[in-house]
Amino acid sequence: MRGWVCDCCGRWQISVERIHGRYLYRLVRLYRVEVGGGRDVLGEVATVTDLEALLRARTPLTLADLREVG
Ligand SMILES: [Zn+2]
Repeated sequence: MRGWVCDCCGRWQISVERIHGRYLYRLVRLYRVEVGGGRDVLGEVATVTDLEALLRARTPLTLADLREVG
């Protein structure tokens, strides 16, 4: 997977998805196994500007809190 995860808890993840021929950033919240596991897709956006806005709206993070993976 290409994308980013947060360093603080690993519960927030952004992946780069190719959907209908274009690349989108997908913001996902991961739940710990202790609470049943699973994941929620919080949004998919096309630009870094929109990604920053989505992070502000749905998470306590900024892009600076994320570490690139993949
Ligand atoms: Zn975290």
